[in-house]
Amino acid sequence: MKPWMKNLRQVEPYVPGEQPKSLDVTKLNTNENPYPPAPGVLKALGAIRADSLRRYPDPACEELVSALASYYHVGADQVFVGVGSDDVLAMAFQTFFNSELPVLFPDISYAFYSVWAEMFSIPYEKQPLDEAFRLVKEDYFKPNGGIVFPNPNAPTSIFEPLSFVEEIVSHNPESVVIVDEAYIDFGGESALPLIEKYDNLLIVQTFSKSRSLAGMRIGFCIGSPELIQALNSVKYSFNSYTMNETALVLGAEALKDETYFRETLNKIVDTRESAVRRLKELGFSCPAPMGNFLFVTHETIPARKLFADLRRENIFVRYFDQPRIDNYLRITVGTPEEMGRLYGFLKNYLK
Ligand code: PMP
Repeated sequence: MKPWMKNLRQVEPYVPGEQPKSLDVTKLNTNENPYPPAPGVLKALGAIRADSLRRYPDPACEELVSALASYYHVGADQVFVGVGSDDVLAMAFQTFFNSELPVLFPDISYAFYSVWAEMFSIPYEKQPLDEAFRLVKEDYFKPNGGIVFPNPNAPTSIFEPLSFVEEIVSHNPESVVIVDEAYIDFGGESALPLIEKYDNLLIVQTFSKSRSLAGMRIGFCIGSPELIQALNSVKYSFNSYTMNETALVLGAEALKDETYFRETLNKIVDTRESAVRRLKELGFSCPAPMGNFLFVTHETIPARKLFADLRRENIFVRYFDQPRIDNYLRITVGTPEEMGRLYGFLKNYLK
């Protein structure tokens, strides 16, 4: 070890799903949207002027913030935007989780939560999902330094109803409760209406999944003006220009085409529902999915082996080598053609 190395920050990073260079891959591993962004978004991209790139972007991100505020019928002072919901969540961890008490989140959940907690030295305690991979709400009724969970959960795709979310929020007036709704547009009911009643509730969403803009990195959250103001203070203490000009313009544009948005979502939900049936015929089972992905296990083939064999065929899915879920695969819902390739391979393979 070189002498200066003792001062290096030791962190164990989050490992994102593989992004293969080859276009030959059937890519069902990172919950991207298989359809392009709304046509207006590409037009707006073409219309971006050099001058708007020469200058710094608007630090307040007003264009996008006000587009989101009118879309969701909230005040502009209730919206905060960031570089993907990862950025928004990381900022929220720093802003709201400053207690000596542990932050609570599910043991099987978005793996970034424990990475941020470690990174920012936030104490945390994982709460085990039950045997059916459901959150146990009573686990979140004890003293804590904050709560965060995805709904639908990842990687299970299981959705908990609004009444369930409200029970957790109403039991926790002393902490900030973050509901990570990255996948809410694929059929769940957002907890957004609850922000009128609970000023300690923060709803985080993203343009990466339902709006086909993972590559642009646009995330946002909605909550009480007090929460948003606190987030902005942390952001301005870190980097005034988190979001680039192109992301601000394209994000606002993406909100304009509701018809395209609904059509795309409906296609994905239809493909998801037929995937549940097709995979069942092939010996798989999964909890009822509410995201743009399925969490499947096979009656005989171990997930680890299937993952490797699919990969050799250039069909990428996600495998988590982690207790309790190491016999499951997370499969993103692709186009019917992509899913057809998966079923075709499996049919032969399982013969
Ligand atoms: N939350 C959950 C539950 C996710 O699965 C993801 C996607 N990796 C994110 C947040 C972050 O997505 P993004 O930063 O692309 O908005």
